Amino acid sequence: MALRKILCDNHLLLHSPTQEVKKINSGVVRLLDDMIETMREADGVGLAANQVGVSKRILIATDGEEIIYELINPRCDQTEGEEIGIEGCLSLPGCYGEVPRATKVVVKALNRKGQEVRLEAEGLLARILQHETDHLDGILFTAKALRMVDPEELKGEEKI
Ligand code: ZN
Repeated sequence: MALRKILCDNHLLLHSPTQEVKKINSGVVRLLDDMIETMREADGVGLAANQVGVSKRILIATDGEEIIYELINPRCDQTEGEEIGIEGCLSLPGCYGEVPRATKVVVKALNRKGQEVRLEAEGLLARILQHETDHLDGILFTAKALRMVDPEELKGEEKI
């Protein structure tokens, strides 16, 4: 495994939709392993492949506990509710905003073995999955934020 560099701010890949994965080969598996190591090192809760410079429709997300979800070609359906929460992004250091998201989502994707997976999520994990699938569509949270928030306001608050 190896750490990958996280792209920041106005890099073109962050603003471009990613490519569907046609074949899950050793390169894709290595990318997943590297993304996990990179996310852990950065103390993040989610990461999209284009954030590490690879235009493929792949994301990882964690529920904050032990589980890390690896989702290839994910499709995220918003199924219920809306709530406003604070988001940040490894590609936008020091930048936080209030973003409305669906409370519940269903994500369909492939795992690293090429098997179809269906993930139902709510709350924080649902928010992370929406943030990361937006990345894969070339959309940053700042495009959806109702307002940006000063980091000083956030001391002790939960944020992603
Ligand atoms: Zn992000």
